[in-house]
Amino acid sequence: MIGGALEMTETIQAQVLVVGGGPGGYVAAIRAGQLGLKTVLVEADRLGGTCLIRGCIPSKAMIHVASEFDTMVKAAAKGRHGVRLSAPPALDLAETVAWKETVVGKLNGGVGALLKRAKVQVVEGWGVFSDAKTCRVQTPGGAVSIAAENVILATGSRAVELPHIPFGGPVISSTEALSLAELPRRLAVVGAGYIGLELGIAFRKFGCEVTVVEAQDRILPLYDDALTAPVRRWLEKAGVALHLRAKAKAVETRGNATELAIEDADGAEQRIAADRVLVTVGRRPLTEGFGLEAMAVDMDGRFVKVDGQCRTSMRGVYAIGDLVGEPMLAHKASAQGEMVAEIIAGRKRRFDPVAVAAVCFTEPEIASAGLLPEEAKAAGHDVMTAVFPFQANGRALSMEAGDDGGFVRVVARQGDHRLLGVQAVGAHVSELSAEFAAMLEMGAVLEDVAHTIHVHPTLSEGFHEAAQRALGHAIHI
Ligand SMILES: Cc1cc2nc3c(=O)[nH]c(=O)nc-3n(C[C@H](O)[C@H](O)[C@H](O)COP(=O)(O)OP(=O)(O)OC[C@H]3O[C@@H](n4cnc5c(N)ncnc54)[C@H](O)[C@@H]3O)c2cc1C
Repeated sequence: MIGGALEMTETIQAQVLVVGGGPGGYVAAIRAGQLGLKTVLVEADRLGGTCLIRGCIPSKAMIHVASEFDTMVKAAAKGRHGVRLSAPPALDLAETVAWKETVVGKLNGGVGALLKRAKVQVVEGWGVFSDAKTCRVQTPGGAVSIAAENVILATGSRAVELPHIPFGGPVISSTEALSLAELPRRLAVVGAGYIGLELGIAFRKFGCEVTVVEAQDRILPLYDDALTAPVRRWLEKAGVALHLRAKAKAVETRGNATELAIEDADGAEQRIAADRVLVTVGRRPLTEGFGLEAMAVDMDGRFVKVDGQCRTSMRGVYAIGDLVGEPMLAHKASAQGEMVAEIIAGRKRRFDPVAVAAVCFTEPEIASAGLLPEEAKAAGHDVMTAVFPFQANGRALSMEAGDDGGFVRVVARQGDHRLLGVQAVGAHVSELSAEFAAMLEMGAVLEDVAHTIHVHPTLSEGFHEAAQRALGHAIHI
């Protein structure tokens, strides 16, 4: 640099360098710190990653407020079992977003405190590798070079952009949708996966006119029709316009008016007036801009290739979370992070779960662990299934969760009754997912579930009864 001061670069030696402070990276760093390894975490944004800052947590906070608002709207319109509001509720979205930010802020601060307690050094800035074990970070206080014995890549993912409908202006991703200053009167959602539907449903509950456009012939394509039918019914009842087998073609803005042009299932063009177009067509791993090409790791399509211990093809370099493949879920990222820290510390671990449960926080919710019936058949099992409807569950009825078509379904092997999968759809079923996963992980048979005394009155009794029903002796149906 001519005439300027020569910039000094601080050099840090680390046993473990984690790049990315999401649920994969920060959990890996905390665990490595707990195990006494000198650990450095590099994060360019706020600690917590996609999940905590612009994903799982803020979306669930907004979904919660939307449901409360919707309940109040109904109480004002017709009254609800003796509760009547004398005037309709008013929504101040800016205040809602500010509350959501306080939730995010608390968790973000908590992650910082936990890292500090585990003696992890946090380096703030974007990391760029010059080789597999050397990473340079431009921090607010100057350049830092980190030389690491082991590297954990946890750079996560970003929203997929449609080339012909790029983000910007009225076209938004889930990130912007969670921080809007004003409620759009009309919202078009492109993509009926879980992120699009969770947010589309929340905005409908806030009072927006919502249209959903999906290229496939069904919503939530990862689940079967039985599981998604209650969600479809809700969408229909709530007046959400659903265009299946339809392609989003273009967004045109003239003055203040924005239209989404779509090609519908018959090949005809339709134009949907919308104030905002939310594009949720998937997420892709973040593999660019941090010198991955200098690290000589093998790829598996767009993902970084890893083995059953999250090792990449480069010795001492591990990768976890959204960067390494499906399911792109926070709890999978955390489980991999914890495991890799323990492997580096010398423990014997493998990432080989029986099930990574997944939940859609739609209306109603869907929870799924293990194999769906068709997947179990395709895997060659002789399958038996049984369903228990929440209509016959006292707890569901007592909290108005019995009339949305919800149920618990067990999928088991005929021969030995081994549980292969458990799914549920219905209000609040997200909280059942842990028991589903635990039973699968413990290798339970139907009798294990049927002989476990489930608390009354809870929705979990639906799982108990579904197992009993598979065995031919349900009590309440
Ligand atoms: C709207 C929405 C809702 C979601 N809801 C759920 C849900 O309910 N449940 C669920 O399980 N999952 C949910 N997800 C998915 C979940 O957020 C991800 O699976 C999870 O965050 C992945 O964790 P990760 O640690 O792999 O990466 P991320 O959380 O994406 O974190 C990666 C971090 O790395 C940082 N980074 C990247 N490159 C660099 C670099 N070179 N230098 C410094 N820092 C870098 C980024 O700034 C980021 O903070 C949701 C996602 C979205 C978008």
